[in-house]
Amino acid sequence: MNGSHAVFHLVDISRDLKREIEDNLPGDTAVNEVDGSDSLSTDGGSQSRIDILFLSPGRWEKMDQEMREWLESRNQHLVLVLEDEQQKPDQEYNVSASFLGYLRRPVTRNALKSIRDKAREVQELYTDLHLMAKEIVLERELLTRKNAQLEFLNRILTSTSQTLDLKEILHQTSKEFGTLLGTTGLAAIFWNYDNEDLFAEIYLPEIKSLKTRQKWTGHLMEIVQRFEGSMPRHYHTVVMGEGENTLSKPPSHARQIMLPLQAGQKTFGAIILDAKEILNLGKDQVTIINSAARHLSLSLRNALEYKAVKYEAEFDGLTCINNRQHFDKKLRKELKRHQRQVNSLSLIMLDLDHFKTLNDTYGHVTGDMVLRKIGEILVDTVRETDFPARYGGEEFVILLPETTEEQAWLLGQRIRQKIGQTEFEVQGKKFSITASLGVASIKPGPLTPKDTLVEQADQALYLSKFNGRNMVCTSADVCMDQAVSN
Ligand code: GH3
Ligand code: MG
Ligand code: MG
Repeated sequence: MNGSHAVFHLVDISRDLKREIEDNLPGDTAVNEVDGSDSLSTDGGSQSRIDILFLSPGRWEKMDQEMREWLESRNQHLVLVLEDEQQKPDQEYNVSASFLGYLRRPVTRNALKSIRDKAREVQELYTDLHLMAKEIVLERELLTRKNAQLEFLNRILTSTSQTLDLKEILHQTSKEFGTLLGTTGLAAIFWNYDNEDLFAEIYLPEIKSLKTRQKWTGHLMEIVQRFEGSMPRHYHTVVMGEGENTLSKPPSHARQIMLPLQAGQKTFGAIILDAKEILNLGKDQVTIINSAARHLSLSLRNALEYKAVKYEAEFDGLTCINNRQHFDKKLRKELKRHQRQVNSLSLIMLDLDHFKTLNDTYGHVTGDMVLRKIGEILVDTVRETDFPARYGGEEFVILLPETTEEQAWLLGQRIRQKIGQTEFEVQGKKFSITASLGVASIKPGPLTPKDTLVEQADQALYLSKFNGRNMVCTSADVCMDQAVSN
């Protein structure tokens, strides 16, 4: 039999017996003499060498439990040596220590050969078992990975189908990809055409460094260029707020995965997942990511459409601020909320002065441009919690939660001044416009009619007009005219 080289380690074996063993040593075998109690630690054999320990029952008995277990754990081959010719091998030794066999005198070459061959057989068996165990571990790892991928797909499918909120879908996507691949950041871009105009909406987490933010914006815009052949004419950025999602480093192709989002044949957006380190993806991972991207495309497309419909229902097409319907809804909500609040709810109603004349003089297109500018002024002047809306024609309202009449009046003044100071120019002709404002304030109770606040603000506005325009009046008949305030 062709096999590994064997070493017989003779532990505290008598000189005579050692000689006998050496005299009958089979081929491919060497002898190593071991004495002392601490010197049993051979390295347990290897592919090319088999270590076999020869020891007497007495030596075995002297050995402590720890040492025995250590030998067993290292697949150490043990041979019991019976120096006394009459001595019978005790069955117990064989069982308890899994001895490979025993050696008795007189020692024959055949006996040593058979010990060596048996050790080789056992060694081969160990090797096979070891390989099998390795395969099982590998198989288990693959199963665990597959399982994690299926769970990921299931979670992403469920969580992103349950909402039409775009930010929430992106947040869930970032979270699930983080769990699967260890990615730490997500950015997204969606694009569309408004007639011929290509515009884009960018979603980014909060990025402190302006430079990094600009690089990410540029990077996302290039994706649009790649798919559409041109850069978007307009874009706006939505900051995704809290969460684990972070993009602290500038974009790098090696660290990121780009998921194109498709509806039918058309690509309408892309998600970028960013990792801290270079990503090396397996084939199975790529397949699962593609499935996720297909599903995400569907969820995000629905969310985008929902957003567009909602926008159309709630925003005014000309000024891009809230429309009357949205204002009515908001007013009802705030009236209810303020019943539980100590502070009052205020409303400013604004009507442009002599707007008809402006239209007649400069044309409707100019009138429209002025209305758009008024919308911008309102949005720029009010707080985040205030609610400006176009009430109709050249009338605007601003709903001011938790605001006293006095605070509302002061804000009205600021708006009135800003409008009055805004200079317009049409075909070289410069002009400006003024506005009259009415302010009302209530602490709504359960029986307050829902129209009270609007009626009072309307009356105050009437007072402003009646008293000469370009002023802010309250429903309590307090006015401030242009002579005093400008
Ligand atoms: P006053 O100072 O009394 O408010 O005078 P006024 O001319 O502003 O009053 P009136 O309410 O009679 O006129 C409002 C004008 O606003 C009439 C209408 O043509 C114009 N208007 C309403 N909606 C729009 C719009 O969407 N675009 C333009 N360009 N004009 C509009
Ligand atoms: Mg009017
Ligand atoms: Mg008017």
